[in-house]
Amino acid sequence: MTSIQFLKGVGPKKAELFGRLGIETLDDLLFYFPRAWEDRRLAAKKEPLPFLEPAPVIKGKIKTIRDLYTSSRLRIFKVVVETAYGEAEASFFKRHNPRFDVFALLRKDLKEGRSVWITGTPEDPLFLSRLRADEYYPDDDARALKMHIGRIVPVYPLTEGLTAKFMREAAYEAVTAGAEAVGDFLPPRLVLKRGLATRDLAARAIHFPENNFELVQARRRFIYEELLLLALAWAIKKRQTRSVQKGFAYEIKKTLLTPFRENLGFSFTAAQAHAINEIFADMRAPTPMGRLLEGDVGSGKTVVAISAMLLAAENGGQSVFAAPTEILAEQHFITFGRFLKGLGVRFALLTGRLKAAEKKKILEDLAAGKIDILIGTHAVISEGVKFRNLRLVVVDEQHRFGVRQRAALRAKGEKADMLIMTATPIPRTLFLALYGDLDLSVIKEMPPGRRPIKTTEATEDIAFLAAADEAAKGRQVYIVYPVIEETQAADMKSVKAEFERLKVYFKGRRVDMLHGRMPGELKKRVMEDFAAGRSDILVATQVIEVGIDVANATLMVINNAERFGLASLHQLRGRVGRGKWDSRCMLVARSRAGDAADRLRAMVQSANGFELSEKDIYIRGAGEILGVRQHGDMDFKLADMSRDKEILEMAIEDREQVLAGDPDLVRKENAGLRRKLQDLYAARWKLIDLS
Ligand code: ADP
Ligand code: MG
Repeated sequence: MTSIQFLKGVGPKKAELFGRLGIETLDDLLFYFPRAWEDRRLAAKKEPLPFLEPAPVIKGKIKTIRDLYTSSRLRIFKVVVETAYGEAEASFFKRHNPRFDVFALLRKDLKEGRSVWITGTPEDPLFLSRLRADEYYPDDDARALKMHIGRIVPVYPLTEGLTAKFMREAAYEAVTAGAEAVGDFLPPRLVLKRGLATRDLAARAIHFPENNFELVQARRRFIYEELLLLALAWAIKKRQTRSVQKGFAYEIKKTLLTPFRENLGFSFTAAQAHAINEIFADMRAPTPMGRLLEGDVGSGKTVVAISAMLLAAENGGQSVFAAPTEILAEQHFITFGRFLKGLGVRFALLTGRLKAAEKKKILEDLAAGKIDILIGTHAVISEGVKFRNLRLVVVDEQHRFGVRQRAALRAKGEKADMLIMTATPIPRTLFLALYGDLDLSVIKEMPPGRRPIKTTEATEDIAFLAAADEAAKGRQVYIVYPVIEETQAADMKSVKAEFERLKVYFKGRRVDMLHGRMPGELKKRVMEDFAAGRSDILVATQVIEVGIDVANATLMVINNAERFGLASLHQLRGRVGRGKWDSRCMLVARSRAGDAADRLRAMVQSANGFELSEKDIYIRGAGEILGVRQHGDMDFKLADMSRDKEILEMAIEDREQVLAGDPDLVRKENAGLRRKLQDLYAARWKLIDLS
């Protein structure tokens, strides 16, 4: 592999900066894909592509130059250019520095009378001849012009010290040097079948496409690659999981399950019973379970999970139940206490905020097998946590966990069963792409007696009047704000500031505050007080989004509702309507910009999470919803699973074909696929084992 240092213009210093971007070799650079492309063609037909940004370029003779100081210590270098279409103006901005002339270089390069090209962003979208300049090139520098002007140019994610221009030049070098030979690892059969660009062609065109067609083809090629590899990895993972023998057999003894059902005070819905049957069948099978349980907010997933954990406990096995937040873990701990009363099941709560001694005791008990069920945040994944006999891993609200965390939890008990729960339903293709190693159970029905939650848009005044009303009736209210503290954004209300105001507004009622940055003990107390009905109004951030279960709460007021995604709005709304009273959700919006209007309308029109999820995927794209981007899990370079749905479908179809003929990828034509899977999913992510 050729080190990046051998590239023209790259010394040890620059090499270190490249290192920060994960670029060490020429190959790395060749496969460091642009995040966007700028269309700097002048007269070409500019068909808009979603990833191609128009970028104005002006060309002409420099007429005048002015160097201006502003009051804010900003300096402006203003260049007026005589173009073929009249005068244009470009301004370079720099922070003033008394120690040297920040514009020395510009003054040298941009002399009156010279012919130049200048690129930038229009100061006013309607007035393309006035630019905030960023790059300039003298008209006689043929080489530079070939790279930077009159074409579609790549835009890379950068790091301090590496400019866009420098990156582009380095990429140009890498592309023309051909880097290492770009071998095509895809079986030729698939390349032909899908009409894909060859890999070396695509590797050039992804950086410097000659036209729209090339760009689209190059992207399509690499997106297909990414998705096919992922699809293959899941299938292999699934087969590998299923090939492990658990080495023990469960027996449904009902010594715990029966008293648990008696404790419940309700009977399972048909959908819950069905899911429990599927889970029990998996658990009793000789190979480990991998199952995703989907069910709308409030559909009763927790008791399904408890049933599974009790089956494990009846057979002497330990379970772990991982929740995404401490508040949620604590809530679950309380719920478990209620449902497991008198069963003799030993359960404990492990969170980041336990005192060292308490933590130590729990860890010892766990290792000694004196705890049957461990509830916790993802702290339960951390190193020091050892089980004696872990048989079942439950992950609640999966969209908050990444695939890597999921794999880490699973590794705690090699042969353990795994149950993952989510309230965010996923279309089938996406399910296959994201959770292709899992089987699916869906709870489609709500427990009986649920009152529909009426959702409306409201002004703050009306929402607060409604809140006072509910409190007067002895009910409780959540009032949610998007941020903890005041920020620059004047149109965003904060929990802290509003809490002070609301205490006065709701005089005579007990108003409490809850947000993520409060001390753990305090959070816990506030939550307990609200759950026990000691406080009337809870002013909170999104921390209450998942899992909180207080039946007496009947009104959810969401301020700055435009700031929340649909999934969050729906989750928040799901905090009410859990008891025998009519419940309401009031959305107080301060703007309807962007897709806010769509989201608010969707919320008012539909109370069904499955329906909303489909709309959400349409409005926002899947990556964001499923938390894929934030977790950097599937750090795809180009693929976006919702946008690239068709390519995803192809990839899944082709995966089936590839594996049907050659499940272990031992045939020569599949050697390339195997090698790539080895690099990415075996060596780097440890998702599968290809040794
Ligand atoms: P989610 O699926 O959102 O995690 P939960 O498990 O928190 O939902 O259940 C929501 C509420 O419904 C809880 O208070 C739970 O005890 C209750 N519940 C669950 N199943 C039933 C049922 N079959 N009948 C009545 N109430 C139920
Ligand atoms: Mg839940």
